[in-house]
Amino acid sequence: MITVVGSINMDLVVRANRFPKQGETALGDLYTTIPGGKGANQAVAAARLGEAVQMIGAVGTDAFGDELLKGLASENIDIGMVKRVDGTSGIANILLSEGDNRIIVVPGANHAIEAHELEALESKLSASDIVILQLELPIPVVQKTLEICHKHNVPTILNPAPADAYTKELLPYATYLTPNETEAEEIFGAGWEQSIEQYPNRLIVTLGKKGARYFDGRKHVLVEGFETQAIDTTGAGDTFNGAFAVALVENMPFEEAVRYANAAASLSVEKFGAQGGMPFRQEVLERMG
Ligand code: ADP
Repeated sequence: MITVVGSINMDLVVRANRFPKQGETALGDLYTTIPGGKGANQAVAAARLGEAVQMIGAVGTDAFGDELLKGLASENIDIGMVKRVDGTSGIANILLSEGDNRIIVVPGANHAIEAHELEALESKLSASDIVILQLELPIPVVQKTLEICHKHNVPTILNPAPADAYTKELLPYATYLTPNETEAEEIFGAGWEQSIEQYPNRLIVTLGKKGARYFDGRKHVLVEGFETQAIDTTGAGDTFNGAFAVALVENMPFEEAVRYANAAASLSVEKFGAQGGMPFRQEVLERMG
């Protein structure tokens, strides 16, 4: 069983041919709502690849809450531990224009989870094969989850995004840390390539289309990405993390697990939307050859 402790959001996407100036109203040409949140995305990525997945998180009592829960359940994700809290679900307000984006995230229900609630779920966490976390829930919740898993020798993947929420107290408790290049630099500074030597087979830095790298205790290993036509790279990292968890649960050797995650993530960038392009197992195996 893979357990994801993380955020569940509705992405509210608006597109216009230019960004409005301060105080101005611009006319848009597209509005769509897409289920997202790093936690939910990673849960969907893992579930599509055929593993049993349960989600720990929260949505609001609003209509988005209903829709988000329905979406997760339709991906065969166990939502029995997703609580409903009075108020709004988490949302990301995404403004697309001029080939760029401007995003405001309002955590809503995601920030209504408290660390002591994870203690009540200790038996669920300790019975997991692996637990995946990101940094879109309150940090004490992340810290508590990591501590419980560490106590029970349950491996954890901490995807340190957004990196500005990261604190160094988390790393000793996480089995694997999976920043992208920007996050690695934010966490370890410009010398992150040397820093990874301190965390052999634990710190995996994703490098966009170049793939991912880690230090195996003797040498640096670059696991090359799969070349593809990228349409939308949103959710590439989320797919990588979900797939990496699946590979580890299935006892793939470390380098092979990273390659599996690269293959899954490369498929995810070929379609629009974070969850939209997340592949099923057979597609990943075919890509791996
Ligand atoms: P994030 O999405 O968190 O910013 P990255 O950009 O590093 O993270 O992407 C995560 C993974 O997705 C990479 O390690 C790689 O396997 C895959 N990936 C990302 N962009 C591409 C691309 N253009 N082509 C192929 N694979 C990609």
